[in-house]
Amino acid sequence: MTISQIVVVGAGVMGRGIAYVSALAGFHTIVVDVSEQILQQAYQHAKETAEKGVDRGKLSVEESLNLLNHLHTSSNLETAVVDADLIIEAVPEKRNLKQQILEVADTHAPKHAILASNTSTISPTELGSYTKRPDQLAVMHFFNPVHKMRLVEIVRGLETSDETVRMIGETAEKMGKETVEVNEFPGFVTSRISALVGNEAFHMLQEGVASAEDIDKAIRLGLNYPMGPLELGDLVGLDARLNNLRYLHETLGEKYRPAPLLEQYVKAGRIGRKAGKGVYDY
Ligand code: NAD
Repeated sequence: MTISQIVVVGAGVMGRGIAYVSALAGFHTIVVDVSEQILQQAYQHAKETAEKGVDRGKLSVEESLNLLNHLHTSSNLETAVVDADLIIEAVPEKRNLKQQILEVADTHAPKHAILASNTSTISPTELGSYTKRPDQLAVMHFFNPVHKMRLVEIVRGLETSDETVRMIGETAEKMGKETVEVNEFPGFVTSRISALVGNEAFHMLQEGVASAEDIDKAIRLGLNYPMGPLELGDLVGLDARLNNLRYLHETLGEKYRPAPLLEQYVKAGRIGRKAGKGVYDY
């Protein structure tokens, strides 16, 4: 089987990014959302990102036109998936919603189609159980911003076949990504480390070890991280970070208990850049 048509479900932060790299790689791409307005924004986002790519010499004009020719939008999941080879869901992190999307995709997509989820926390074995093709499902975990971040974590569930992992890996590579294969553990590789580092930075801020600016500067310049853990928290959203920590605390134990100061920031609505205020004011 070769993958030529990809359907991305959800045109939010991640879905629009995945649709962009998919169309850029030459896959016939349909991005699906319940909101027409969000679909228009996703298309506009692709257009602007491609224009910036051309201005910076990273894309040729022809590549950017090709990308837009390969990108389509739809608000009807049932019809969008009828010719799909790969469906990547990137709807909000809610079990019921993901279940509903996977059931519809499983019912209406061709038998050979692979189902992938961009979930940050939900088990691929559980997601597979919502479908009649658990061997053809895996987590395909992209990073934000998708067009810049080079990694895709591939997480296999109990029933995921080697062929599914191979096809997803090959597709990710065509999208310009490197992959790692991860077994089913909460937080995969990246979220588990990132949650601990981010939480430790909040503990240090709470204890008065150093100012937020100096904690971030120390980690950037001393450990060669591209961003400090507190500024990164503001970028991804402190609410999302807190949810991840709560989940890891519940599943993996005490060392992931969220720092009280992080809980307080979220209660106060200081959830990061998207709210105009987090650890820093924007
Ligand atoms: P988001 O809220 O920005 O986007 C979700 C989109 O799904 C919205 O546009 C919404 O309208 C759409 N949607 C809701 N119900 C739908 C339905 N029934 N059919 C079609 N579309 C529907 O969320 P996001 O940040 O892009 O996250 C999506 C997934 O990716 C989540 O599982 C999240 O855990 C995961 N993830 C997020 C990040 C990140 O940094 N934001 C990183 C890696 C993985």
